[in-house]
Amino acid sequence: MNSVSEPNPPVTMPQCKSLHRLSGQIALVTGANSGIGRAVALSLAREGAAVGINYLGGRDAAMAVVDEITQFGGQALAIGADVSDERQVEGMFSQMLKTFGTVDILINNAGLQQDAAFDQMSLAQWQRVIDVNLTGQFLCARAAIREFKQRGVRPDISCAAGKIIGISSVHEVIPWAGHVNYAASKGGVMMMTKSIAQEVAPYRIRVNSICPGAIRTPINRAAWETEAAYDQLMTLIPYRRIGEPEDIGRAAVWMASDESDYINGISLFVDGGMTLYPGFAEGG
Ligand code: NAP
Repeated sequence: MNSVSEPNPPVTMPQCKSLHRLSGQIALVTGANSGIGRAVALSLAREGAAVGINYLGGRDAAMAVVDEITQFGGQALAIGADVSDERQVEGMFSQMLKTFGTVDILINNAGLQQDAAFDQMSLAQWQRVIDVNLTGQFLCARAAIREFKQRGVRPDISCAAGKIIGISSVHEVIPWAGHVNYAASKGGVMMMTKSIAQEVAPYRIRVNSICPGAIRTPINRAAWETEAAYDQLMTLIPYRRIGEPEDIGRAAVWMASDESDYINGISLFVDGGMTLYPGFAEGG
């Protein structure tokens, strides 16, 4: 055990007992009953992690994810909680600790959009998106880091004392008209992630973000549902296909595993090249 005030002593890679993927690790995925969170939870569980399946309103969908994981021999627990509510987040972590003993991996995924032209945007629309997408990640990250710091590294489980992966967006760098609240929340996630990473790295805690491009989930159905919408979307994606939730699942497994042990404070874009300014592919 390491005391809260003392960073973990340096541990070089060869002293880590193993470079296995996620067996023996405990993960919490917020918003895990749908879309990206669901795919990430299933991917982590297939690599051996026991997974907390957080949801807000969709309990049946969360139970279906738990069933799917238990059917292939994994361990999972559904936990209802609003990530923007401090008390509910504390309760969710208490449930994780009570059931699984600790948390090694936090996937800060829960998020939403409430779109409006800027001059039509209500304070409630602005506030809800910031509360869930940014403050929700803050509350969950803070609870996770408290646990990581008081527990310290378990070298037989992972080289790190804990890993946090924020699901951000290409819109942490691409401005997005009509979605100012969303883009602002993801820009905030970027600087929050990097600043936390800088602060807690001496405790051997890794904090990174994954920035999806357009992924086929309910949040952006209008962008891929019809052929015309899909064709329009492809003008933004040099790789010329929409992302699937499993693309993010695979990236999250790698980011949570010791394979990425020396990676801290980055934004990993998983976007088929959406951030490559495709409008400049010709001319410019
Ligand atoms: P989704 O299918 O709509 O899933 C959103 C999830 O967030 C749901 O599980 C929802 O739970 C949960 N959620 C919403 N508010 C919550 C709250 N207050 N507390 C707890 N959970 C809450 O959307 P998605 O595409 O998978 O999005 C997941 C994340 O990826 C979001 O952060 C989003 O910004 C990001 N992202 C998505 C894309 C994309 O193209 N799809 C691109 C970039 C970034 P309930 O169903 O129970 O309400």
